[in-house]
Amino acid sequence: MRTIAGLATARGFAVGPAFIYRGDGEIPVPQYVVEPGREADELLRLQRAVTETKNDLEKLISALKEHTKGKDVKIFECHQMLLEDIVLLGETEKYIREDRINAETAVRRTARHARQQFEQMNDPYFRERVRDLDDVERRLLKSLTGFAEDPTCELKTPSIVVADDLTPSETVRLPRDLVLGFATNGGSTTSHVALLARAMGIPAVSGLGDITVRAVAGETLLLDGTNGAVTIFPTPSAVRDFSDLVERQRELVEDVASGAPAGTLRDGGDIPLYANVHPGVPVADIKAQGARGIGLYRSEYLWLNRELEPTEEEQFEAYRDAATFAKTLGEKSTIAIRVLDIGGDKLVRGISTTEANPFLGNRSIRYLLSNPEVFAKQLRAILRASVFGKVGILYPMVSCVEELVAAAKILADVKAQLDAEGVAFNREIPVGAMIEVPSAAINAGALAKYVDFFSIGTNDLIQYTMAADRGNESVAHLYQPTNPAVLKLMRMTVDAAKKNGIFVSVCGESASDPIVGVLWAAMGVDVLSMSATYIPLMAKLLSRLTRADLDDYRAAVEAMGDGATAAEILAVCENWLRARIPDLDNIVL
Ligand code: PEP
Ligand code: MG
Repeated sequence: MRTIAGLATARGFAVGPAFIYRGDGEIPVPQYVVEPGREADELLRLQRAVTETKNDLEKLISALKEHTKGKDVKIFECHQMLLEDIVLLGETEKYIREDRINAETAVRRTARHARQQFEQMNDPYFRERVRDLDDVERRLLKSLTGFAEDPTCELKTPSIVVADDLTPSETVRLPRDLVLGFATNGGSTTSHVALLARAMGIPAVSGLGDITVRAVAGETLLLDGTNGAVTIFPTPSAVRDFSDLVERQRELVEDVASGAPAGTLRDGGDIPLYANVHPGVPVADIKAQGARGIGLYRSEYLWLNRELEPTEEEQFEAYRDAATFAKTLGEKSTIAIRVLDIGGDKLVRGISTTEANPFLGNRSIRYLLSNPEVFAKQLRAILRASVFGKVGILYPMVSCVEELVAAAKILADVKAQLDAEGVAFNREIPVGAMIEVPSAAINAGALAKYVDFFSIGTNDLIQYTMAADRGNESVAHLYQPTNPAVLKLMRMTVDAAKKNGIFVSVCGESASDPIVGVLWAAMGVDVLSMSATYIPLMAKLLSRLTRADLDDYRAAVEAMGDGATAAEILAVCENWLRARIPDLDNIVL
C-alpha cells in the first residue's frame, strides 16, 4: 500500500479499479502494392471499412445522446459527414484503382493531402478540421487493419480514471455514470477540468506527478478528493475503512438536504447558496443539493465539442429551459447567464485562434465586442428567454468601463430590434459584471455605475492578481485566496457594491471552500455560488454560525494586516472556525 499526495481538486471519496486513460497510440499500417486484377477486392475492403466506421459512429452518437442528453454529438456527426465526403472517398478509390496501392496507404495519402489543404487555409475553422480528419482517418485505419485499441481506452465498468491530464472535451466525453473519480498527473484545483469534475459531483485529485505509471489498470485505488491523495495497492482493511467514509459522505448530504434553505444562518440571517452550472454537462442534481438559484451559467459550454456556433434558436431553447428550471429552485431564485467566456484554457472549435498569450488575449467580453454579430445573437437569445424566469446577463472578464459602455450599446440595439419585431422580453433585465481582473476590482466603484450586480470570479481574480496560472500545478502554491492582496481586492469590490446599492456574489470555486467561503460571507457578499455538490457542506457550516460570528471572523482576519502571509491568515481562519465549530472535521469530510 502506498499513498501519493496530490492537489485536492474536487471533494469526495471514491474506491474502485483504475482505468488508465492513455489517449490514442500509433496504429501500425501495412503498405503493399495490389496485384493486377485485385483492385476490386481492395475497393471492397475500403467500402467495408467505411460502412463499419459509419456504424461505429452511429453507435457512439446514440450512446452520447443517452449520457449527455444529445448536446455533445455534433462533433461526431461532423465526422460522419467527413466520412461520406465524395471527394475524399473518390480520391482514395482513385489511388487504389490507378496506383494499385493498398487501402490503408490510400487512406493515409488522401488524409495527408486534405490535411495539407486545411492547414494552408487562413481560416481557423478549417485549420481546426485537421483534428477531425485525424480522427476519421484513425477510425478507418482501425477498421482496415483490425487494430484493437488498447482495452484500457474503453471504459466499461465504474472506475477511477487515471490520466496524464484531461481536456474539458475529454472530460465531458467520458460516461458520467462510469467515472468514480479522476486522478491526474497534471492539472490544478481551478482548471476547467477540475470545475467540471465538481459540477458533475465526481471527486478528483490532480498534480499527482506520475500516477499513470504507478497505478495498475484494474487494480483498486482509494481516491481522497477532500485531502488530495490517492492510495495504490491498498490493504483490505484500508479498503473497508475507505468504503465506510464513502457511505458517511452520502449520509451527510442526505442529512443537510433535509434542513433549512441552504445559506440560512443560526440566527436566521441568510446568505443564499446558488449553483454554478455547465450547460450540456450532466450535473449532480442541483435541486436535491439545495441550490436556491443559478449564480453562474457558463454558456460557453454550448459551444464546446461542436463544429459550428450554436444558432440563436438553439441558444434560446437552452436559456429558456435553464430559466424555467431556475424558477423551480425558489420564488426569488435568479439565474445569471454569463455570455460566451472563451479563451485561456477554454478553447472553442472554429472560433478560438492561436494567440501567443491566450490568458491575456482577445477573450471573453473582448472577443464578443470584436465580434458583435456573435454577441448580438447571444443577447437576443438571452433576452427572448428572459420572460421565462428571473434572468440576468453577466459579462465575463470585464477590465474597464469602456467595455461596459460598448456592451450596453449593443444590448440597447438588440432590445430595439426585438421591439421592432414585436418579440417579448424583460426590458429591465439586470446586467452584471464579473470581477475577475484586478483592474475591475480596483475600479469597482466606477464599474458599479454601469451594472446591476457584480459576480466575483475568484478563480481568475486570484490567477491574475498573483500572476499564477490557475491550471499549473507548479505554481499552485502561489494561488492564494487568502493573500492580503486578494483580500484587499475582495474588500474593494464588496465595498463598492454596497456603496452603490448593487448586489454582489462570489461565483469562483473558493466560495465552496469551508474556510474561504465563510470568509467571503463574513466580508459581506450577498450570495455564494458554487458547484452544487458543495452546497450541503457550506449550508451545514453556515447553519452553525450567526451574523455576529461572521463579524468576529472578519475582524480576526482584518487584525492580521497586510504584512501577514496567506498561510498565516489561513491558519487564523482555520483556528477560528475550529473553535466555533468543534466538530468541523465531521462536517468537512
Ligand atoms: C472565475 O473566474 O472565478 C469564474 C467563475 O469563471 P471561470 O471559472 O469560468 O473562468
Ligand atoms: Mg473566470
